[in-house]
Amino acid sequence: PRAWTLVARPQGTPRQSDFALVDQPATPLEDGQVRVANRWLSVDPYMRGRMNDVKSYVPPFKLDAPMEGGAVGEVIESRAEGIEPGQWVLHMLGWRDEAVGPAAAFTPLPDLGAPPQAFLGQLGMPGMTAYFGLLAVAEAKPGDTVFVSAAAGAVGSTVVQVAKAKGMTVIGSAGGAEKVEWVRSLGADAVIDYKAGSIVKALGEAAPEGIDVYFDNVGGDHLDAALAHARPRARFAICGMIDVYNDAKPTQLKYLARLIGNRVTMRGFIVSDHMGRAAEFHRDMGAMLADGKLRSEETVHDGLEAMPDAFLGLFSGGNRGKMLVRV
Ligand code: NDP
Repeated sequence: PRAWTLVARPQGTPRQSDFALVDQPATPLEDGQVRVANRWLSVDPYMRGRMNDVKSYVPPFKLDAPMEGGAVGEVIESRAEGIEPGQWVLHMLGWRDEAVGPAAAFTPLPDLGAPPQAFLGQLGMPGMTAYFGLLAVAEAKPGDTVFVSAAAGAVGSTVVQVAKAKGMTVIGSAGGAEKVEWVRSLGADAVIDYKAGSIVKALGEAAPEGIDVYFDNVGGDHLDAALAHARPRARFAICGMIDVYNDAKPTQLKYLARLIGNRVTMRGFIVSDHMGRAAEFHRDMGAMLADGKLRSEETVHDGLEAMPDAFLGLFSGGNRGKMLVRV
């Protein structure tokens, strides 16, 4: 088996030389352990944070040890009760082709009639982020005007569709004409190409009455533009700020003071705050999926070798929908 390790902590945008694909010793199973052949590996923006040696809500990756991340695979050997070869499971021992661990580290995939990799995207962590960020954190309601950035990504494209399915007006933003067109095809009422001009101006045109909810995936100019057009008592769900993950330059927030006059509530959140509600999430999302109200798109790289390329693509917009690696 082989696994990607982090050999150097990246400065700025990670480079290929920060990663190494190394052979792992074949380990016999101990009692209670399971061996899984990984079929799908996830790359996610939060992994950039784990590459820094700083205290955060997830510990940093250790140098020269296999990296971790979401993965879906098939059990190929089991010395644990209740888990049999052939079973498909979700787990966090990604960035490698084979995972070995205690049975408790592997969660059988719920049967929602969806393909297994959906549990790394719309029916998994990014989907839960979108769903609870929108409905629980931002408390978005039918009739609200919702603005979401990185709307062609895994989280953002789900926010667009859940918001539409729940009767909201949705404005998305994405980079480039092709992504803009795709987000529109998902049902967004208006889509901004943030690479084509001023976001503040475009958002003002798309939402002349202002916005009730901002779902932030980007930070920086997007957050500032959302502040410029926030209606009184707007709710901001601060989900991510990918604009700053690779740099340390301070962002200028020209409209920050509007938080005050408009009594805007902004809440940071971590998807794991909502994990206890997974059953509710699967019930509601599974029904929307079955009703044809959700489309889940994937950008797929092939082979374990492609992990760093796929990961780096997140920062240059190389994905539409969920970025995945097929092993
Ligand atoms: P995406 O699938 O959205 O991939 C990242 C996308 O971000 C790219 O495709 C690119 O699209 C866009 N992007 C990259 N750099 C910039 C930039 N400088 N300015 C504007 N857009 C940029 O990733 P996810 O859906 O997995 O994650 C989206 C956000 O949600 C991230 O910020 C992530 O950290 C956050 N998140 C937070 C969680 C939480 O618990 N709080 C859980 C999961 C995710 P484009 O071509 O349009 O630029």
